[in-house]
Amino acid sequence: MNQLSDRINNLSTSATLAMAAKARELRAEGKDIIGLSLGEPDFNTPDFVKDAAIQAVNDNYNSYTPVDGYGELKDAIITKFKRDNNLDYTRTQIVVSTGAKQALFNIASVMLNPGDEVILPCPYWVSYSDIVKLQEGVPVEVKTDIKNDFKMTADQLRAAITPKTKMIWYSSPCNPSGSVYSKAELRALADVLQDHPNIYVVSDEIYEHINFIGGHYSMANFEDMYNRTITVNGVSKAFAMTGWRIGYIGAPETIARACNKIQGQVTSGANCIAQRAVISALEADPSRIQYMVDEFKERRKLILGLLDDIDGFITNEPEGAFYVFPNVSAYFGKTIKGKTINNASDMAMFLLEAANVATVTGEAFGNPNCIRISYAASQEQIIEAIRRIKTALG
Ligand code: PMP
Ligand code: GLU
Repeated sequence: MNQLSDRINNLSTSATLAMAAKARELRAEGKDIIGLSLGEPDFNTPDFVKDAAIQAVNDNYNSYTPVDGYGELKDAIITKFKRDNNLDYTRTQIVVSTGAKQALFNIASVMLNPGDEVILPCPYWVSYSDIVKLQEGVPVEVKTDIKNDFKMTADQLRAAITPKTKMIWYSSPCNPSGSVYSKAELRALADVLQDHPNIYVVSDEIYEHINFIGGHYSMANFEDMYNRTITVNGVSKAFAMTGWRIGYIGAPETIARACNKIQGQVTSGANCIAQRAVISALEADPSRIQYMVDEFKERRKLILGLLDDIDGFITNEPEGAFYVFPNVSAYFGKTIKGKTINNASDMAMFLLEAANVATVTGEAFGNPNCIRISYAASQEQIIEAIRRIKTALG
């Protein structure tokens, strides 16, 4: 007898979290593993945010919060959306969740009926397809080209739309490619959607501040897209707050209300202390976190230079986030140190075993030719990791 539901049996384990767990396990066995698998800033949460959390504990913030978030936090989110994105939202359009991941889960739960299609430009963030499948939605992968910086074109979008298309989900800056959609590129996609007024867009902007080219544009900035765009954001990446678990959306009111309803039955809302701390994070001027962005930019330059030196790794220049996504297919079919590498998963496993470096297979992101390397690690670790990879492959 199978104890578990078909739903859970059909769900993949998160490849990013699985690789991080595997690296942790090997480290516990005494192996010197360099972890470049997890998309997690290696900085501490800024002191001014930690102080706000300590204050909240001392001020006895210990009760249930409003299910969709404290009013003051919603006001800080509204201020942030206006200041950074020139987007106007009201309190009834904001929902605070336990990470952007839960925000995405909420959206899928409240918007998808079985069989509804969700267009995912590939590579996409690892959890999108499984969150969609969990609601019996159908992920529709649109393969993009490294020559176009892994961005979906208007023609590709047009070709992927069917009468069942409900939504498009993308991240910009993109995890895992680091690509940033320009205003013109988003406009071209929005133009295609003019013929399809019932299709919604989920714009995941969690890496907004980790942008090396300047110029972040939101789909909701277009007046004709505002009422059918859900803007997803959070503090995990920009404020080095992955464990605090706070994300949020700005959305059409009906969708926000539905997300509130589902949280009311599932979590009762996000953690109270974390919510208070995030008020101070979002009220702060983004210049206060610039030192982290500057360091990521240095590391990007470093890792791109080092990867350039590895035969058969083809890498585009990421414009944001903290990942590189090299195409490693030149190695497929080759046997190195007795191990045959037939795909990206073999390559990630080979690098873990032969170089003691944890990366993530591109297959998890819908691109089986690439691996994802996170450079949210110190420059010393990056130098040593790429040296090991080069030696192992050499
Ligand atoms: N979206 C993207 C693109 C991500 O990389 C992540 C990373 N965790 C998330 C959403 C979820 O972030 P969190 O739940 O930590 O807010
Ligand atoms: N988003 C991060 C990543 O892609 C964290 C892991 C996760 O949430 O799955 O590595």
